[in-house]
Amino acid sequence: MSTATDPTAVCWFRRDLRLADNPALAAAIAYGRVVPLFILDDGAPENERPGGAARWWLHHSLAALRDRIARGGGTLVLRRGNPAEILPEIAGETGASNVVWNRCYEPGAIRRDAALQARLRTDGIACDNHNSALLFEPWTIAAGTGGPYKVFTPFWRACLAAPAPPRPAPAPAVLPGPRQPVRSENLDDWDLLPRAPDWAQGFHPLWQPGEDGARARLDAFAAGPLRNYGRDRDRMDHAATSNLSAHLHWGEIGPRQIWHRMHRLAAMDPNLSKDADKFLAEIGWREFAHHLLFHFPDIATRNFRAAFDPFRWRRDADALRAWQRGATGFPIVDAGMRQLWRTGTLHNRARMIVASFLTKHLLIDWREGADWFWDTLCDADLANNSAGWQWVAGSGADAAPYFRIFNPVSQGEKFDPSGEYVLRFVPELAPLPAPLIHKPWTADEAALRRYGVVLGRTYPRPIVDHSMARQRALAAYKALRL
Ligand code: FAD
Repeated sequence: MSTATDPTAVCWFRRDLRLADNPALAAAIAYGRVVPLFILDDGAPENERPGGAARWWLHHSLAALRDRIARGGGTLVLRRGNPAEILPEIAGETGASNVVWNRCYEPGAIRRDAALQARLRTDGIACDNHNSALLFEPWTIAAGTGGPYKVFTPFWRACLAAPAPPRPAPAPAVLPGPRQPVRSENLDDWDLLPRAPDWAQGFHPLWQPGEDGARARLDAFAAGPLRNYGRDRDRMDHAATSNLSAHLHWGEIGPRQIWHRMHRLAAMDPNLSKDADKFLAEIGWREFAHHLLFHFPDIATRNFRAAFDPFRWRRDADALRAWQRGATGFPIVDAGMRQLWRTGTLHNRARMIVASFLTKHLLIDWREGADWFWDTLCDADLANNSAGWQWVAGSGADAAPYFRIFNPVSQGEKFDPSGEYVLRFVPELAPLPAPLIHKPWTADEAALRRYGVVLGRTYPRPIVDHSMARQRALAAYKALRL
């Protein structure tokens, strides 16, 4: 048991699964002995509980954090249940007089943390919380009127004019643990991994969840694709983006680390500065999404623009299933949806194309799409996912205008010109010549048969006619009288 001369703090890890640039952990160490704790909270609101792919990521990320903490001499404590019960219990067991955490911005998390803080303080336990997840917290950036921003460009301009985010602190060399061991649950007993069937087999070769994996990913990006990021980031057939989103979501790396790294690189090589700025602007979209979620906590469930509320979404279970399974007959859409299922991620351009297809070609509610993404993305993030879907649907803040309906054929031809991306996930079209890959239905049946492709048998026929769908979507939009 700790004593009065042996101050102890519980460091409650949530979505900050790293040791470097972790202000809550630094505060706990400054306080004294540290009990690193992660709580699996099954009682969190449904849209804040990780979906299937994110649970796979979380399992491996916690294993990495456990090993990382052990290297510093500490022990990660795992508990499953209600934080309102577990935190006071652990504080009591260890004699901790302080509980620290880094802030989350989802509405349920904000409510929970406020109640917890009040409860712990009533019990005589000091509580403090920090920012590890954002460059600029939502209440620190305000529009001229004093209210929140609703448009990205002025928001990001205001961010860039604000004082630079603090420099990230290095990981602590040692983690002084409590004198007595604390009971922990076994990660494997949490059943975060899929079993029968193990649909995550394709994830392993692609991902290394955890702080070391995040750093390696940033290093590789900085040494390679960053140089042409602005030019190539929309190319689905190129490995031109960072793939850091899941690492960022789980806090295995923080945006401050990325910000300062980009500024350092641009200072050393001015030729990089345009691409570094472009990359930071994408981190800016992440900031903007969190800004929106904080100020408009309903954006995960309701149209940001209430004028969209009367929109008559179609209910079509067969079409939704075809979209989910990558069987719409539009190769670029199907490649995207199969990439998502197989790898737990999806290229940003492909996210826009498949989301546009669902909401405009099929007129299916963006919330159906957001739910599917929630379950299948390793980086599923309430702020980014809700803002992304509402942006594409046209119902969001600073959204794409509704009448901008992506043509899946021309999008494919522009951003996957040789069809390489499509063929990675839709190999049954491999025998086709490149000009047909994005529109196999334009060839006559006999020609297709010569290539071994039979629409409706080896690959689906388009489930909807593009021109008809476009007209239908425009008519539905006009009926809104926005
Ligand atoms: P990079 O191009 O390397 O960008 C760097 C980082 O910037 C990303 O890791 C991400 O954190 C951030 N970022 C980039 N683009 C955006 C954006 N448009 N909005 C917010 N942040 C961005 N991103 C998620 O992290 N989680 C989601 O659940 C999510 N759902 C989306 C749903 C839809 C319909 C759309 C259109 C976009 C969604 N995005 C989401 C945003 C974006 O597609 C991904 O962040 C990006 O594809 C991740 O790949 P990357 O790390 O290689 O990105």
